[in-house]
Amino acid sequence: MSNEQRVAVVTGAGSGIGEAAAKQLATRGFAVVVADIDETGGVRVVEEITNAGGTAAFFAADASDPDANEALVAFAVETYGGLDAAVNNAGIGGDMLPTGDYTPEAWRKVMAVNLDGVFYGVRAQLPRLLARGGGTIVNIASILGQVSFAGAPAYVAAKHGVVGLTKQVANEYSAQGIRVNAVGPGFIRTPLLDRPEMTDEVIDMLVGLHPIGRLGEPDEVGALIAWLVADAPDFLTGAYVPIDGGYLTR
Ligand code: NAD
Repeated sequence: MSNEQRVAVVTGAGSGIGEAAAKQLATRGFAVVVADIDETGGVRVVEEITNAGGTAAFFAADASDPDANEALVAFAVETYGGLDAAVNNAGIGGDMLPTGDYTPEAWRKVMAVNLDGVFYGVRAQLPRLLARGGGTIVNIASILGQVSFAGAPAYVAAKHGVVGLTKQVANEYSAQGIRVNAVGPGFIRTPLLDRPEMTDEVIDMLVGLHPIGRLGEPDEVGALIAWLVADAPDFLTGAYVPIDGGYLTR
């Protein structure tokens, strides 16, 4: 990457992990397009970045809409002159039911955001990254991109799909200067976990699945994402990088 201002888009950046990634990229000098369906959250994050001396703009985009992904990339190019990095982070938890009870509608809803959205994002981002001579993509998977979790069939399948798609893109585009990796967070304290099923007992059970003895913090994942975008060696591509307090060691 050159010394001119680098430009990143982060989807689902109005909250949680995406917010942390957007803020840490801004700290590293990226102009950041904060994309989300939640305008209130997205505008708040932009204000916090700009108040801290960074450069950011909000763009309302539904990650599950191919045209919105194209419009998001076009906005980044129009606003900041190009695109150097993308973090495909927008995601939802979806219904919690065993596979046999999962409705096709609930399945499609999770797939649309968590897997289709990453494909639409990458598809829109690649030409603009290639136009700059290369760039980096980080796709947010999960520990559930490697192992199963009872009651989350669509989420598990989608996140495994994100890992596979990441390998695919690395295979096809690494020689053209695209460095693409998937991040696999363990359970992280974000609004994604604010749901009725998450009683104190369930949270304690989840904590017990992480050998470190606690859940993760969004800033910890944001730091990994920012490092992968800005600092990682080019040879690190096509990887699945867990950040999980030891969850996958068990
Ligand atoms: P979060 O709910 O705090 O933030 C998700 C953001 O994505 C929200 O601002 C939301 O408005 C936005 N969003 C939802 N649907 C969208 C859509 N269709 N288009 C654009 N934006 C949309 O959640 P989070 O925990 O920060 O999750 C971020 C990513 O990290 C997700 O892909 C999630 O699957 C993944 N992840 C989270 C955890 C965890 O424990 N929190 C663990 C592993 C992976």
